[in-house]
Amino acid sequence: MADKSFNAFKMAQSQFDNVAEKLDLDQATRDLLRNPIREFHFSIPVKMDDGTVKVFQGFRVQHNDSRGPCKGGIRFHPQETIDTVKALATWMTWKCAVVDIPLGGGKGGVICDPHNLSMREQEQICRGWVRQVVRNVGPLQDVPAPDVMTNAQHMIWMMDEYETLTGAKYPGFITGKPVGMGGSLGRTEATGFGVIYTVREALNELGIDIKKTTAAFQGFGNVSQYAVKLYQEYGGTAVCVSCWDQKESKSYTFIKKSGIDLEQLLGITDKFGGIDKAKAKELGYEVADAEAWIQQDVDILVPAALENQINAETVKKISARVKLVAEGANGPTTPEADEVFTKKNIFVIPDFLANAGGVTCSYFEQVQCNMNYFWTKEEVLSKLDNIMTSAFHAVYGLAKQKKVYMRDAAYMIAVNRVAQACKLRGWV
Ligand code: NAD
Repeated sequence: MADKSFNAFKMAQSQFDNVAEKLDLDQATRDLLRNPIREFHFSIPVKMDDGTVKVFQGFRVQHNDSRGPCKGGIRFHPQETIDTVKALATWMTWKCAVVDIPLGGGKGGVICDPHNLSMREQEQICRGWVRQVVRNVGPLQDVPAPDVMTNAQHMIWMMDEYETLTGAKYPGFITGKPVGMGGSLGRTEATGFGVIYTVREALNELGIDIKKTTAAFQGFGNVSQYAVKLYQEYGGTAVCVSCWDQKESKSYTFIKKSGIDLEQLLGITDKFGGIDKAKAKELGYEVADAEAWIQQDVDILVPAALENQINAETVKKISARVKLVAEGANGPTTPEADEVFTKKNIFVIPDFLANAGGVTCSYFEQVQCNMNYFWTKEEVLSKLDNIMTSAFHAVYGLAKQKKVYMRDAAYMIAVNRVAQACKLRGWV
């Protein structure tokens, strides 16, 4: 959001236009899918702690609900813009469609900075947000979730306001709630494990034994920690992780060629995924610069930190040994790097397929809440594995059949499913 010249929604539209061309979609379908179907802009007046009233700007965007209720997070950010929310809602439509869960794409936001708001003021924003869109959201219409600077507490306040206004219990109104208050077991593991389910399938297709592979991970937060865990359980050797050093405002890579010890590293990691450098050195880790993770002589790269990490410059540093890139983060690879991957025949599991385990588990949370009956963690993870595995094979099958890049194949499947749903409903 810092780069003012970058417009995420224009990018989402141009990606869509590109796929629409490949799929030869008719004009009406293109007109429908390149814009959100509904967009709500509203004011949220809040009585502040000092007695003054401040009016916050809120949004909810429903990009497409032809396949089911919309699904997507609510962001609290001082630089939130309607175009960012529109882009994220569009990407949610494709993410839900590629894993074939019966949901559409949505996203919401409020322009505010939680750092400067008391908990009471944040609660009032949450309740005010729900009051403005209560008729247009709900378990059968649009199901919000946490996102940037919102968490389980915000979700509970929103659920409580929705239930107060509608006069009944609707735990399926929102996801990201704590376990015991309608949250799902397995949500913490879901995104990282989902990445590795797809890695396992890709390696099988490439005829590579996972036990003989090595991998480098960027990031050591929720996604990376659980991706490393499952990868190691499958017998792979994780040689490094990297993270942001808050004190020094730069990132470092922590390397142990024989394989990192996950439990040991977790013991010296803070809740933001930052590793204590001095303690890591004591434990025998080589502490290298930010880009060292991408230069490792490994079979697999897992970017799981930020967007725009594998770009025209950094892609040159990738070892000739790398065969597979699994995108845990959203948007880690630029189009220039994609070209290099294609030339070098590096297999890519694109972000909205690889990291869809998170939204899939949120869908499970909603299903369990609607039934008011909760599954064991094993049940959740086994259902997640089934969904991620079939999604991978649908995309891989199309990529092979049409001889297209994996990212294009994933887009083609997702957009085609949504276009078909709109057609079957008689919208276009
Ligand atoms: P997180 O905040 O838990 O962890 C982020 C990690 O990245 C931390 O270890 C941090 O130190 C590290 N990091 C930050 N800047 C870095 C830099 N410049 N270089 C190296 N490391 C850096 O975040 P997360 O939930 O693990 O999410 C990671 C990515 O995955 C994001 O792109 C997010 O949008 C995406 N994602 C997350 C989920 C989910 O369920 N958590 C779902 C889908 C996509």
